[in-house]
Amino acid sequence: MAEADVKRSLPDVVAPGRLFIGGEWEDAASGKTFEVIDPARAELLTEVAEADAPDVERAVQAARNALDGDWRSLTASQRGRLLWKLAQRLEDRKDDLARVETLSNGKPLFESAIDVAMTIQTFEYYAGWTTKIEGETIPVSVPHQFNYTVREPVGVVGAIIPWNFPLNLASWKVAPALAAGCTVVLKPAPETPLTALMLAEAAAEVGMPPGVLNVLPGGGPTAGGALVTHPGVDKISFTGSTAVGRQIARSAADTLKRVTLELGGKSANIVFADADLPVAARGAIGGIFYGKGEVCAAGSRLFIERGAREQMVAMVADGANKLKVGDPFEKGTRIGAIVSEKQMNTVLGYIQKGVAEGAELVTGGRRADVGPGYFVHPTVFDGVTNDMTIAREEIFGPVLATLTFDEVDEVIERANDSMYGLAAAVWTRDVKKAHYVASRLKAGTVWINTYNLYDPASPFGGYKQSGYGRDLGRHALEAYTQVKSVWVNLR
Ligand code: NAD
Repeated sequence: MAEADVKRSLPDVVAPGRLFIGGEWEDAASGKTFEVIDPARAELLTEVAEADAPDVERAVQAARNALDGDWRSLTASQRGRLLWKLAQRLEDRKDDLARVETLSNGKPLFESAIDVAMTIQTFEYYAGWTTKIEGETIPVSVPHQFNYTVREPVGVVGAIIPWNFPLNLASWKVAPALAAGCTVVLKPAPETPLTALMLAEAAAEVGMPPGVLNVLPGGGPTAGGALVTHPGVDKISFTGSTAVGRQIARSAADTLKRVTLELGGKSANIVFADADLPVAARGAIGGIFYGKGEVCAAGSRLFIERGAREQMVAMVADGANKLKVGDPFEKGTRIGAIVSEKQMNTVLGYIQKGVAEGAELVTGGRRADVGPGYFVHPTVFDGVTNDMTIAREEIFGPVLATLTFDEVDEVIERANDSMYGLAAAVWTRDVKKAHYVASRLKAGTVWINTYNLYDPASPFGGYKQSGYGRDLGRHALEAYTQVKSVWVNLR
């Protein structure tokens, strides 16, 4: 096989892809399939079975059976070993997983490799937690009574994830849910369902009992909607846009499901003039252009203190120009293909709006000519004000808005002037200022003199309309458990 064909060859499990329900590979009840497109070439990659309500019904039943059956009967340590083995199996397959992720998402191969490594770490981290989910003994005031608590799984979890970090975000839901003793029905995004199917295959291979992890590729309002309204689902763990998050919170209310929502962002990256400016510029470039800007925590609003403005804008624009846009499999490529034609058009539409509303286009601003694929040049706008659309709405593409400020409290107010509150960063050599600003920013994550750092042990999630609940760390684990209080009469 020629090298290009090897890169593009798909593992059997996704060529074509089927639904994974109760440990079996199945077609959709409707017999329908949908196309998965390679955005770097704008061509068909493969087809995948398209789940809908009847498939959700079967998957939820399988997950319920496993919850009260094989999964419950395992000890915590046995559950942990399975999660660890799953991590090892993913490690064995890491090259294939990275390749397939790049094929359907368009991100450079080195980024997919990082995603896979983070996924493995997440399963390893939660494998260690299974034996550490403890209850308490409570010193109640009622005489002769002993009271203790037990943390039990919340039940069947519906996990719904977006297309930007398909495998990694799946692990952010699946690993803590399984560690807590829950079972899962995972619905990947229709643009990028393939690595979720490879995850299902790996789970089956390491002996995960049937029904513990079910994977249903399918549409949002259809398969996703059916999962959210199904009375047999106890919790929805969602990552995606704020608009869909609102809808999910509304429909989940009818069955009073627990919901955690990891939603959109418009994160402020604040650079003071006393910062190490070349380092801050590199941070700003990575903060917005990593993942083609399709990163929920992307530092899409760069606030620069007036004295550093010219130098920073020049360094950031220069850095953006040096990022190679192109074939995500080619070494040296830093900006891959936008995930879909629709998303590319959305990004280009925002760029037009930026120009129309009077922002100054410093660099980029157009589609990149890399064959028929969906590529956009890294784009930098200067002279942006808080009221402009490109400063208010999540673009989810490689577009940076730079804004200028004069005072510490002014920039805090303007950074917080957003419906979002996912992440933020501050760059300064002044320790007091750094912590003061961090304490005042309304965001679930604040980075100081760095950007885009994540770890399975550190909680991640939003303030305000960036959602509620946390992924990762012990905080995520708690949200997959519920507390039972047990009273014992000692006399
Ligand atoms: P999206 O909200 O359109 O879709 C996300 C998922 O929800 C997909 O699987 C989709 O099929 C499903 N969905 C769509 N409509 C649904 C419905 N009515 N009911 C149930 N499910 C439905 O988001 P997207 O375009 O795939 O991803 C981009 C968004 O995700 C951005 O807003 C980004 O900020 C956000 N995101 C957030 C985080 C975070 O951790 N906060 C991480 C990554 C992405």
